[in-house]
Amino acid sequence: MAEWKKFCTIRSARGVWLTDTNGNKMIDAVASMWCNVWGHSERRLVTAMTSQAKKLQHSSLFNLTNRPAEELADRLVGISPGMNSVFFSDNGSSAMEVAVKMAIQYCKNTNQKRTKIAALKNGYHGDTFGAMSVGYIPEFFSRFQRQLFPVVRLSVPDKYRPPRGMTPQDHTEYCLDKMEERLGRGDIAALVMESGAQVAGGALLYPEGFERSAGRICKRHGVLLVLDEIATGFGRLGPMIQYARQKCSPDIVAYGKMLTGGYLTMAATLATKKVYDAFLGEFDEHLHLFHGHTYTGNPIAAAVANTNLRMYKERNLINRIKKTSLVFEQFYDELLALNMVGDVRHRGMLMGIELVSDKRKKTPVTMEKSINSIIFEEGRKNGIYLRTLGNIVLLVPPLAITEEELEMLLNRTVRTIKTLKTRIM
Ligand SMILES: *Cc1c(COP(=O)(O)O)cnc(C)c1O
Repeated sequence: MAEWKKFCTIRSARGVWLTDTNGNKMIDAVASMWCNVWGHSERRLVTAMTSQAKKLQHSSLFNLTNRPAEELADRLVGISPGMNSVFFSDNGSSAMEVAVKMAIQYCKNTNQKRTKIAALKNGYHGDTFGAMSVGYIPEFFSRFQRQLFPVVRLSVPDKYRPPRGMTPQDHTEYCLDKMEERLGRGDIAALVMESGAQVAGGALLYPEGFERSAGRICKRHGVLLVLDEIATGFGRLGPMIQYARQKCSPDIVAYGKMLTGGYLTMAATLATKKVYDAFLGEFDEHLHLFHGHTYTGNPIAAAVANTNLRMYKERNLINRIKKTSLVFEQFYDELLALNMVGDVRHRGMLMGIELVSDKRKKTPVTMEKSINSIIFEEGRKNGIYLRTLGNIVLLVPPLAITEEELEMLLNRTVRTIKTLKTRIM
């Protein structure tokens, strides 16, 4: 942490622009940690928060309910094929804890002897202990390894670095075969995976059909499928609901990040009727889910989420993304031609640019200090706020960024990567 002596203080923000206390402006290429949808200071979202704040700031979802939370639950069920009920929490990690607890207790409640959780290598589901256990990324979590619960870890297809002697297609088939074999043993309660792509694990997009096949394997073997759409849903990879695009039908799904447009903290775990019904019973049967957070169903967060979802429809955001997303493609060749760029992975409003020191060997680039801080500094000089995932520059701008703004962002990203050359080890 010694590296971070002087943080740049952000004073205000409007649209895609962040302004620091010296008046310098940067494009928010990170969507303020992957959650901003409409840009900053969007009047309708601000009004949704302030008008709700004047009526009811917070009450509780214990024995009570509130209108904004109920409306939001209806909206979420309405857009999520196959889902029946919603459990609110206040961040993505908690939503995943809830999902895993639901899956384990579902098996108990239905008298099944399935107790294990399976997950994909390299997945990420949050920073709390349950979420760390399920989404193990060694670099983040290795210090806590002894405190994490055991998880059955399955291989995930890697198109850029398939194992020696395998084509990417071979590798996908290999991963699915292994999954089938392991899930078939009858001891797994649920398979937990990100939907569409592993983002924190390095912007790895699943090959076509992989998620759907995983869903089918789960069905065949009576394993619940828990999908994490916290980073990839709500238009980040294009479609509103990623699992619908993947033609996959999960039993439990988690949303977060973009749910409130990036203005307040809120997350949700949705379940099918089959899962929900297993928790119904008389009090002394103890079938219900013992879980609840102080701010569950917060009315201000729910109000801004409702307005956000209304705006998705009114402004036809998902269609707009299809068009804006083409700007990323225009820069594909230019990026890939750069000396330091080994791979460019793009879908919807997400692009991962993998930096390598040897294109042929695909050696990840290393620098004299943390890559993230160097790229942050260089980006800032070029008027963009960038945050990397190891050696991968991740572009995840606010979803409603205009084509002109996105072009500007990509031009500045190219310029930033070019200036890095002098600073590699
Ligand atoms: C960010 C993220 C989480 C955790 O959400 P927090 O709100 O940061 O706790 C979980 N899963 C995925 C895929 C994420 O990207």
